[in-house]
Amino acid sequence: MAKLQLHNSLTRKKEVFEPINPPYVGMYVCGPTVSGESHLGHARPYITFDVVFRYLTQLGYHVRYVRNITDAGHFEEEGREAEDKISQKALLERLEPMELVQKYTNLYHWAMRQFNCLPPSIEPTATGHIIEQISMIRKIMDAGYAYEVNGSVYFDVKKYAEHYPYGILSGRKLDDLLETTRDLEGQEEKRNKVDFALWKKAPPEHIMRWKSPWGEGFPGWHIECSAMSSKYLGNQFDIHGGGMDLQFPHHECEIAQSTIALGEMPARYWMHNNMITINGRKMGKSYNNIIKLSEVFSGNHPLLERGYSPMTVRFFVLQTHYRSTLDFSNEGLQAAEKGFERLWSAYEVLKNLPESGADMPADKELDEQVTKLCRECEEFLNDDFNTAKVLANLFELVPIINSLKSGQIKTNNLQKKTFSLLKQTWKIYLEDILGLKKDTGSQDDKLAGVMDLLLSIRKDVRSKKDYATSDKIRDALNKVGITVKDEKDGGASWSAN
Ligand code: ZN
Repeated sequence: MAKLQLHNSLTRKKEVFEPINPPYVGMYVCGPTVSGESHLGHARPYITFDVVFRYLTQLGYHVRYVRNITDAGHFEEEGREAEDKISQKALLERLEPMELVQKYTNLYHWAMRQFNCLPPSIEPTATGHIIEQISMIRKIMDAGYAYEVNGSVYFDVKKYAEHYPYGILSGRKLDDLLETTRDLEGQEEKRNKVDFALWKKAPPEHIMRWKSPWGEGFPGWHIECSAMSSKYLGNQFDIHGGGMDLQFPHHECEIAQSTIALGEMPARYWMHNNMITINGRKMGKSYNNIIKLSEVFSGNHPLLERGYSPMTVRFFVLQTHYRSTLDFSNEGLQAAEKGFERLWSAYEVLKNLPESGADMPADKELDEQVTKLCRECEEFLNDDFNTAKVLANLFELVPIINSLKSGQIKTNNLQKKTFSLLKQTWKIYLEDILGLKKDTGSQDDKLAGVMDLLLSIRKDVRSKKDYATSDKIRDALNKVGITVKDEKDGGASWSAN
């Protein structure tokens, strides 16, 4: 069996994947900040790492997949530090901060289910791990790499860089950072502007706050991932993943924290998915092109011609290798929708073809072609999760499947074992690993069509005073969870539970 190779952002090359303690694999992926709804940019890491999780499991590994929820009320971006997004949003929406956190966590879980992403093994929250974070900060202070000023604690990046390779992951150089990082208000207490907060003193208006050895405050963003990943996966684990935008400063800071507090690099393999663009533009507030996932599905956004189903989006994302850029456009999504429909209907056809084939194939060339296209799927995934090439091979098989159904290709042209390989390949790759499923969007459309028909028949029989048939239809629908309500104007509406 070919071994899985994955691109390690740390060494910047493809490496054969060797888990620390096989068959166990520890994987940590940075989850969302639940101060708002997930948008299109989030869809990519969600789907990418879901496929990584599914494929590792398929290879027989026991994967402990940890994906956190950032709910501690802070958020750090380059140049903008420790803004209390959750408290601000809570005030705006007149909600208790934890109520807001719950609301957006629920929405996030809903989006993940829409995409058919499997739940992680553990989903820890930052607010549930304040003690662990404080204890890690203390270790860093004891080692002399963090300092306290007025109730806040900062990591001493300059000192760290004197002894350790700061910038090892992102390739950034400390000297350049010292020159380019802007001086921001309220940061005078840091020894150096590149230092980052491990703990921040809470100003009086800050709602989310905890007691600490340095007074009341809240943890910095980076420390939560270091504290939670080491708690559930050990000091060093196999894979750390996230979007490319997290490489710096977030993951670089995680490396520095763990190196000092735990004595080693947190993860062996670092995987980062590339970013998405919308109509060729970077996604961002200034471009007014942030599309929330609920808007993608409903089509309720000025940049969208209409809504696109979660499976269309999933398919669209998987058609591009995760380390390439991906541009969202109406044309791209509509092409993906058609492509996915074509692929899925071939799969339905294949599922319904009876097991057949000959002991000796009548068409040796075709038999070899089908075998090759199926076998290559594994090679492609072993080559740094190349889902795009897997889908391309499945597409090549579509005309063959359709011809098998129409009889243009006789089933005895293939060997029995090739025939079952074909069936197996589609089930394993399309459903189990790529995680695609029948589009429920189109299923809903079909149900709506059937209901229109039934209600118009019911209207006809009622006009003929055939109330027995009318009631029969209503009662039968009721039994399968569909409620029919007669309107005053003689029409009827329905709802499915
Ligand atoms: Zn993280």
